Amino acid sequence: ATILAIESSCDETSASVCVDGKILSNFIANQTVHQKYGGVVPELASRAHMQNIVPVIDAALKEAFPEALPQNSLQNVDAIAFTQAPGLIGSLLVGAQFAKSLALSLNKPLVSVHHMQAHVLANLIEENRPAFPFLCLTVSGGHTQIVLASGPLDLKVIGETIDDAAGEAFDKSAKLLGLPYPGGPLIDKHAKNGNPLRFKFAEPQIPELNFSFSGLKTSVLYFLQKQEPGFIEANLDDLCASIQHTIINILLKKIKKAAQQTGVKNVCIAGGVSANSGLRNSLKEMGEKQGWKTYIPKFEYCTDNAAMIAITAYYKFMEKEFSSLEVGPTARSEW
Ligand code: ATP
Ligand code: MG
Ligand code: FE
Repeated sequence: ATILAIESSCDETSASVCVDGKILSNFIANQTVHQKYGGVVPELASRAHMQNIVPVIDAALKEAFPEALPQNSLQNVDAIAFTQAPGLIGSLLVGAQFAKSLALSLNKPLVSVHHMQAHVLANLIEENRPAFPFLCLTVSGGHTQIVLASGPLDLKVIGETIDDAAGEAFDKSAKLLGLPYPGGPLIDKHAKNGNPLRFKFAEPQIPELNFSFSGLKTSVLYFLQKQEPGFIEANLDDLCASIQHTIINILLKKIKKAAQQTGVKNVCIAGGVSANSGLRNSLKEMGEKQGWKTYIPKFEYCTDNAAMIAITAYYKFMEKEFSSLEVGPTARSEW
């Protein structure tokens, strides 16, 4: 089956073509308009999606089928997939409406995909994929979850954050350090030259497999308020390394607990924060010590992308899980 998938939940417009579970293209347009506002501006995001969506789909089709004209390639598509939830409603609407219009005009089935399930299934894109059951630590800008995957469409959230997401912990800490948005990748960069044990920040004691990150931000804020002017500039690398180290500790403690509780030894990570080099290295190390098989998606499949939507849609297509044209996007949604 050939699937054309569209992702537009936040500030990346992306399209991907997948043939029988193999990704042929994954085109991503990042939106730069938000940088000067220090965060994603929803109205600007939907406008940018509207500008980007046709060229992005065009590019994905051309990359997948270089010999054919995009309009001819469309005839070979067996289903149109889109991100239905969760995300910014105006952003989701653009992708949803476009997908529905395509499905209607081509008379092809529509597959709606949950963005957080797709982040997990990004681990099934590459050849070296985890066997079921596996655990996935999904760490992104809006979510922090531990998922037990018993099958591609049998996913269960067994732990999650009670306040901020791991990505927010990175971005909000970065903001306190005067770094521009999104600060996560910059903390990663500076942390490479810093001492992770130099400064100690609060690690919360949260029951079960749940997380909390709001205390960390406060702990960093109070710590910085006590320092002399110029302290941040002089200690930026160590500050970044120490903050990153704290976040990774909080995350890895819980995934270790989840592995002990479930007895599952295949452990994956997913979501934008799984692009963090410290987390990637620490997970590998912990996996070697614990006797796990660990899986980490390629960078382009960690942050928002349509390839993860396409692979999820492929499994739904195989089970004939189609959507009606009446289905609309929703900003929040359990699964
Ligand atoms: P959600 O998937 O929960 O709806 P989202 O789609 O906005 O949220 P992603 O795009 O998956 O989230 O991830 C974005 C987050 O990942 C941001 O908080 C960003 O700072 C963080 N991030 C990206 N790269 C890195 C990195 N190398 N180190 C730390 N954080 C990173
Ligand atoms: Mg994003
Ligand atoms: Fe995401």
